[in-house]
Amino acid sequence: MSMPRLLCLLLSTFPLSLAVAAPPRAEPVAAQQAAMVQWRRDFHRHPELGGHETRTAEAIARELRAMGLQPRTGIARTGVTAVLKGAHPGPRIALRADMDALPVKEETGLPFASTATSTYRGQPVGVMHACGHDLHMAILLGVARALVEQRDQLAGEVMFVFQPSEEGPDEAGAPFGARLMLDEGVFDAFKPEAVFGLHVWAGLPLGQVGFRSGPLLAAADEWTLVVHGRQTHGSRPWDGVDPITIGAQVLLGTQSLVARQVNIASTPVVLTAGQFNSGVRFNIIPEEARLVGTLRTFDTAVREDVIARFGRIAQDYAHAAGGSAELSVVNNAPATINDPALARRVLPSLQAAVGAGNVVEMPLVTVSEDFSQFANAMPGAYFFVGTTPAGADPASAPINHSPRYAPDEAALEVGARALLQVALDYLGGKGAPAP
Ligand SMILES: [Zn+2]
Ligand SMILES: [Zn+2]
Repeated sequence: MSMPRLLCLLLSTFPLSLAVAAPPRAEPVAAQQAAMVQWRRDFHRHPELGGHETRTAEAIARELRAMGLQPRTGIARTGVTAVLKGAHPGPRIALRADMDALPVKEETGLPFASTATSTYRGQPVGVMHACGHDLHMAILLGVARALVEQRDQLAGEVMFVFQPSEEGPDEAGAPFGARLMLDEGVFDAFKPEAVFGLHVWAGLPLGQVGFRSGPLLAAADEWTLVVHGRQTHGSRPWDGVDPITIGAQVLLGTQSLVARQVNIASTPVVLTAGQFNSGVRFNIIPEEARLVGTLRTFDTAVREDVIARFGRIAQDYAHAAGGSAELSVVNNAPATINDPALARRVLPSLQAAVGAGNVVEMPLVTVSEDFSQFANAMPGAYFFVGTTPAGADPASAPINHSPRYAPDEAALEVGARALLQVALDYLGGKGAPAP
């Protein structure tokens, strides 16, 4: 039997959709918009702090099961994953959404606003999806459903990763969600060759996507400086060692460090103190001062260099005054770096999804993201999705973490379309280097 006759027979025997291998498409995500809005509002109404996303995890697992997937739950306590196997062989990728809310009392006035409360580090707090992770979960569910519906045309396998505790756990110094998931072996059996994630962002108008090759988000370190002095009467400082003055000198020294000792032409550094605690009374020079702050960097070598210089400044100032100082640093997240080779493949996908004119190059952003933990384990790409509606100014609209952050829900479709296009193009081998 000749080939053309076989093809004719196949076409007449099988339904058209099987005979003609149409590539999977990103357009069907529009059909998920109503469901994404519903999921998003449900998550928004019921926010949970990092490490406590139990209701959220149950809702995600239920929706994944309803799609015919078999979710794995309980990873990093409340994380959820599920794997979709396409009908055809192909690469393995991971798509990630974060799940946690923030200790913020909502002030949006939305009909589905959160009234949830909890305790955070011993304080009673309101709880709100003020960072927009409710949209991330809804987008990933929408993308999952659009992919499940096209499973027959799909080549490769996709792991959907719902990650808890991106904003960090209740206990200071404890690992964040991505680190925990990796430590619990989230990718030990299913080894993705690339991971993709996104963040909704008030700093961009609705319809735009922000992207950048190389460093994008900062590494975040939490530092603690303890200065030991010698307690004495406030009227007779020469009888003791004043830890408050030493702490102030060290803090100013760190600002000179950033301005005078770092090559700011190559990479920015931010060193901020958020707490400076010492003493109980106006006329007692205390024994000790404690400063706590954050360090933001975009380069591993620069980070290590700044920490070493900070430690030397602290000790030298303290010793000069007859005291001593200890600096401890906990890394909450490494820098998020978009793998340059992967970024070259992702950019055309983003442009195809939202229009070339709507993909803007992001500047370096000094916030951090523990997506970087995944992107350090394999090539990763991460992009921003604008949420500020037409007519409002992204520069002054309430930003992520504000109690008034109210992203336009049309961003759900933009984000899902972009993520789906990125996934489909990668699975289809678009832009892949020749073997
Ligand atoms: Zn956040
Ligand atoms: Zn966030």
